[in-house]
This record gives sequence, C-alpha cells and structure tokens, in this order.
Amino acid sequence: MSEENISGKGEIKPPVSFIEQIIIDDLKEGKNGGRIHTRFPPEPNGYLHIGHAKAICLDFGMALKYGGKCNLRFDDTNPVKEEVEYIDSIKEDIHWLGFDWEDREYYASDYFGKLYDYAVDLIRRGLAYVDDQSAEIISSQKGTPSQPGTESPFRNRQTSESLDLFERMNRGEFDEGSRVLRAKIDMSSPNMQMRDPVIYRILKTSHHRTGETWKVYPMYDFAHGQCDYFEGITHSLCTLEFEIHRPLYDWLVDQLKTSDYKPRQIEFNRLSLTYMMMSKRKLLELVEEKYVSGWDDPRMPTLCGLRRRGYTPESIKKFIDLIGYTKFEAINDVTLLEHAVRDDLNMRTPRVFAVLEPLKVIITNYPDGKCEEVELINNPEDDSMGKRSVPFCRELYIEQDDFMENPPHKYFRLAPGAEVRLKGAYIIRCEGFSRDERTGAIKEVYCTYDPSTRSGSQTSEKKVRGTLHWVSAIHAVNAEVRLYDRLFNHADPAGQKDEDYRKFINPDSLRILNECKVEPSLRSVHHLDKFQFQRLGYFCVDYDSTPDHLVFNRTVSLKDTWAKINK
Ligand code: ATP
Ligand code: MG
Repeated sequence: MSEENISGKGEIKPPVSFIEQIIIDDLKEGKNGGRIHTRFPPEPNGYLHIGHAKAICLDFGMALKYGGKCNLRFDDTNPVKEEVEYIDSIKEDIHWLGFDWEDREYYASDYFGKLYDYAVDLIRRGLAYVDDQSAEIISSQKGTPSQPGTESPFRNRQTSESLDLFERMNRGEFDEGSRVLRAKIDMSSPNMQMRDPVIYRILKTSHHRTGETWKVYPMYDFAHGQCDYFEGITHSLCTLEFEIHRPLYDWLVDQLKTSDYKPRQIEFNRLSLTYMMMSKRKLLELVEEKYVSGWDDPRMPTLCGLRRRGYTPESIKKFIDLIGYTKFEAINDVTLLEHAVRDDLNMRTPRVFAVLEPLKVIITNYPDGKCEEVELINNPEDDSMGKRSVPFCRELYIEQDDFMENPPHKYFRLAPGAEVRLKGAYIIRCEGFSRDERTGAIKEVYCTYDPSTRSGSQTSEKKVRGTLHWVSAIHAVNAEVRLYDRLFNHADPAGQKDEDYRKFINPDSLRILNECKVEPSLRSVHHLDKFQFQRLGYFCVDYDSTPDHLVFNRTVSLKDTWAKINK
C-alpha cells in the first residue's frame, strides 16, 4: 500500500481506480473544457445483470463524483433482438440502484438520420464503399492477424455508384445480406477490425422506434463512437473486449470531429462471478427453457432477481467497490458478494424468530392458558431500531434439528436431560419426548422451565451453553420459505470447452419449506421487507406473499450461526 493511500489519520483510503485517475488528470488539464460526461449504453435485448451494475456504478458514479453528467443511451441498432419490455426493466433497475439520467434518455436510433448522413459523407470522401459480396466471402478475405487481407473487387468502384447503391439499399431494393457498406481503411492493418469493417447492413425488420423508415442499419461499431460524439461524451467506458475496436472507434470519430473535442474510449474488466454466468443470451435460454421461473427468479444474477432475493442496492455497490476496476479479466468469488450482502443486512434488518422445520415443545410446568410478553432487541447493531415483544406460552415450536435423542459430544442444544435457554425467555430442561406411532419420528418434546431464569432478571445465576430461537405455537403464523442454493454446481459453468452449461445446472438449487412458523409480528409484512431470522440467515418477503400465505426467500445464510445468537 503506497503512502498516498494512507490518510492523515492513518486510515486506509480505497485506492483510486486507473479510470478515475485518468478522469482526475483530464479534469486537471482542462481537457474537453473541463467537463466529464459519461453514458451507460445497454442493448435492450435482456434484463440487466450484476455485470451491468459494475458498468452503471462506474458510468454514473464517476459523473456524480466529479460534477458531470451520465446519459442513458439504449443501443438499439439491431431491430431483430430488441423489445420494449427490456427498456422498461432497464430503467427500473438503474433507478433501483440509485442513479438517475434526468432528461437524458437517448436511443442510438435517435441518430439513424445523422449516422446515415455521415455514411454518405464517408462514401463521398472515398472512405466507404458498397460491397456486393456475401458475408462469407467478405470474411474469407479478411486474412489472419499475421497475413494481410484481400481487397474486395468492389473496393475501388466509383463513388457515384456506391452512393446510388447505398441509397437503393435503404429503399429496400436489395435482399438482406446481398450488399453491405464498408469503411475503406486498410486491408493489411495488423488490427483485423481496421480491415475495411462493415458499417451498414440491410435488415428488413421493423424497428420498435423508427418503424419501417430504415432498411439499412448501422453496425455497433459505426454507431457507438459517433453517438458518443453527438452527445458530447468525454469518457466512454466499456469492457475489455472492445479494446481491439478502439482504433476503429478513434478512426471513425476522427473523420467526423471538427474541433479539439473527442470522446475517449477506456476499457475495464468485465464482472464474472463463480457459479454464475452473465451472458444475456444464456440467461434468456434459462428463462425460455424454464430452468428458472423468470428473469427475476431469485437464483438469477439479474438485478431484478437479486432484488427479489433480498439484495439491497447498497450491498451490490459495496461489492463492486470492493472488487474495483482493472485491465485483467478474472472471475470473482461469489462468496464476496454474499459477504457484502450479509454485512449490509446485518446493519439494517430487524431480528425475528422463525422456525423452518418445527418441532412442538410443551412446557409441562407452565400454566395452561398463561401468556407472557417477552421483550427482545430488534437489532443489537442499532439501538434506534428499538424492541418488540413476543408472546411466550406453554406450547412452543423449536427447530427439529435443535433436539436430538442421542446427541454427540458438545451438542449444546436440547436432548433428554439437557438444559438450554429459550432466547429472551427462560431456561428449560428436557424431561422426555413422544414419537409418532406410525413413522417413529419425534413428535413432541416435554420440558420444564425454571421461573427464576427469565432473561434480564437479576435473580438467576444459572448459565447454559445453548440458546435456541422459538415461536409460541398458538400465536405462530404459517409461512412458506424458499431456500436457494447456487444455480450451477460448477464454478465456471459457461467456460467449459465442449460442455454445455446446462450440464452443470444444480438440481437442488431450490428447496421449498411449507410448514414454517414465524412470530406474530410478521403478520403484516410487505413485499421485499427484509429480516434476519435468528440463527438461520437473512430473509426477504417474496412477491408471491399475501396476508393469508406468507412467502419468504432466503437471501443468504448466516456465516456463523452460533456466534450471532448470544449477542
Ligand atoms: P451480455 O454479454 O451479457 O449480453 P453485453 O455487453 O452485450 O452483455 P450490453 O447491454 O451491450 O450488454 O452492455 C451495456 C454495458 O454494460 C456495456 O458498456 C458493457 O460493456 C457493460 N457490461 C455488460 N456486461 C458486463 C459485465 N459482465 N461486467 C461489466 N460491464 C458489463
Ligand atoms: Mg452488447
């Protein structure tokens, strides 16, 4: 750690990313009039995932931090794959993360006219030509990185002929794939992207915004840099796979620019996570082939899936801060993300009692019909969250695995003759149990309580090793709880050569428990409310939940279930 990262107080400041450093330097030098203006350019062909959140946090985050602006620009250059449903979800997800583009909602299609004019201008200047060859032939002429490509026989056709053909391409006179417009750059450039790249193709699909107006559509490379330029973008931040496209980005902007102002493309590493995959195409397959219930299935890495799972925007941002931005591709461990959400939920969620797999406990010496209210702290990390009272009665539920007939050594929970504390209430002692006659399973556990051991009372010196959570049987509210595990059982499901990722789908990624019992304070919860079920993990109210049928999703388990309970 360099000295610069240690502040005056000796605290460690997070290091500034290389991108942030470039921005700081550019602003210091007064480049582009001392402005910073970024954009987030999603293609509306799927829902946003946590990888996009990394780009969003950078694009919007840098603009926010340095007094600039960030545009939202839908990259809708391909009418074949795009849908309005995706546009709405993308906007919702960016807002959920806490960012706003104000009135700067743009579409690459807003610029189709300008882009077309620019293409015509390039033809006029001898910098573009219509090629009548098929895609296969063009690609066979590309050469290899070490061997120059072959020039198209149409490369040197008359400007007027290219102008005429391009216009007719756009009038719909030719079939898709029969002709393209190519930039005339350098067929022997060591960078393959510069070997006369295709910049326009014929597509006869209706576009969701421009309808039937266009029959030719710009390629991504022809749209992106120019849109940046039209919008006055200063820093065009994108992922590393675009690095080899940068000379083309620069070339195209250079032919267009009329002043010193020029957007600069800077690349950073994509976010990849273990046991997940990010490709929108593959995520769509999971949805369409019904491996998941939808784009917002809580096992999906989509932002709507993570939201439904119980992730907060803060936890996602914290995670992204933690992993940072580099020039090297790597896969981040999903446990880092889980750590970030645990940390965040620890501070903000109330603790409650919920029993997922109930076992009845009867306190035989507790008067029938009596009920006490015991007071419990809602969050030991935050006094301002106050206290609540929970009813304690003769019949309670505890977890099935908190009782064992023949416990191993160091089992500090309930067993014949053993004592435990019921959190917030009394110490109880197990006197016996009964079995279900048919199945042999343990049916009820009989205990006695010691009235002098009420939590918080000064009278009892008695100490026990184990503390259990519990719910009063007559007050308990029934609930369904969905426990999630990783969707894939391979750390890199999409990165296995010759192996389909479907092979690595975890068949046990969802377990539904239908007979859970939760404390009565949870009767009136709302969708997405978040709780710590004590000793079990963090849980969030699912959209399927109704007042008559509560449904919770487990966001993440507790790291150390036993350390937390006695806090
Ligand atoms: P996918 O491969 O998932 O289909 P994409 O790159 O085609 O993603 P776009 O909608 O084009 O998706 O992405 C919008 C922006 O988000 C781009 O700037 C892209 O670089 C960035 N982005 C996409 N995926 C990631 C990721 N995994 N990590 C970081 N940034 C990403
Ligand atoms: Mg893309």
